[in-house]
Amino acid sequence: MTIRIAERVRQLKPSVTVAVANRAKQMVREGVDVLQFTLGEPDFDTPQRIKDAAIKAMQAGETKYMPTLGDPETRKVVADKLTNENKIPGLTPEHVAISSGGKHTLFVLLHCLVDPPAPGEQAAEAIIPVPAWVSYRPICEMAGAEVREIPTGPETSFKISPEQLREAINPRSRVLFLNSPSNPCGTMYSESELRALAKVVHETRDIAPDLVVITDEIYEKIVYGGIDHFSIGSVPEIAERTVTVNGLSKAFAMTGWRVGYCGCPGEAGAALIKAMGTLQGQMTTNITSFNYAATRCALTECAEEVEQMRRAFAERAVVIQDRLAEIPGMVMPKCTGAFYAFPDVSAHFGKKSPEGREINAALEFSEALLLEAKTAVIPGEDFGGCGKNHIRISFACSTDQIHRGMDRLRDFVASLR
Ligand code: PMP
Ligand code: GLU
Repeated sequence: MTIRIAERVRQLKPSVTVAVANRAKQMVREGVDVLQFTLGEPDFDTPQRIKDAAIKAMQAGETKYMPTLGDPETRKVVADKLTNENKIPGLTPEHVAISSGGKHTLFVLLHCLVDPPAPGEQAAEAIIPVPAWVSYRPICEMAGAEVREIPTGPETSFKISPEQLREAINPRSRVLFLNSPSNPCGTMYSESELRALAKVVHETRDIAPDLVVITDEIYEKIVYGGIDHFSIGSVPEIAERTVTVNGLSKAFAMTGWRVGYCGCPGEAGAALIKAMGTLQGQMTTNITSFNYAATRCALTECAEEVEQMRRAFAERAVVIQDRLAEIPGMVMPKCTGAFYAFPDVSAHFGKKSPEGREINAALEFSEALLLEAKTAVIPGEDFGGCGKNHIRISFACSTDQIHRGMDRLRDFVASLR
């Protein structure tokens, strides 16, 4: 007997970041000495006071169903955070949705913003500057949008220009993704660059009246390259059609807790958030009840722990860039945010590994590196655009591991013929 799997899931590409990480972990379980630079997951433990807040809430009986989008107290803490830190104007708790991770936030959001095309109709478009995080495209496509990529490259630190954005926007544009600092690129936009993009969104409002900006700021706290994080949702002209997405996974080392949130001000923002509540109410209901207390603790009491982790990432960024600079054919701009190095390795395409693997793509480079040099990185193909020439190296690990991994990468590159 076979169980027929729905077409939309059969068509779905598994997440390459999750898949490669699982494969590397399996090899480690089998006793292979693999050094992992795969998952975008801080190696730090969740700060103790956040754990204590959750334990206390659990012991106090906060173990039951809660309001779908979050209890009022926690939604207020998130609204205050987005108001005070990100300068988003006019945000109240009714403009905030809390979901089971940033990925879930984006999934719910896209299903609230995009209709699949009616027969004979053209699909709505999701504009995604690429390379971009692997999950944006599938999340958009599952909601029924067609993806319009805007290509970028290392020469512009993987940033789009206002001209490129203006050219991409058309009457079918429904969402624009921005992700600064960027996964996988490790670079970020400056305030003036984001203001210039906001200006284009504002000026094209008659061409694309339904366009909503989704700004994924999950790496906002992990910055070290001299550029301050700026929230495009703070620009008054486009604030009410900008959804600022964030979560606790990266800044607070809370990937396993599954807490994500978003905020969008104004009447339209409140209506969007309400729609998200309706959808989430038929999907997951509230997030784990005692995580609300942990969320409040993280967002109000943990600045010091966040800063300590930021400093560690900053040091690692310097180490990995210095080490990569010593290896021939690793082309990349300066890392300014998040915890990824994303070098172009195409200088090595056309070569052969010691065990005879032909290397003509990032996928083949990564495969040979994993099997022959026991070093796991993410091949860049699924990030889109020029990603096919790149590998993503997550440096959310110790400097000692970075050194050992870069030794292996150096020797592997030197062994290619
Ligand atoms: N956005 C980006 C750019 C990411 O790298 C991640 C990491 N998984 C997420 C969103 C979602 O993270 P989470 O679901 O753990 O909040
Ligand atoms: N976002 C992280 C990464 O890119 C975690 C895995 C995932 O959800 O993609 O590695």
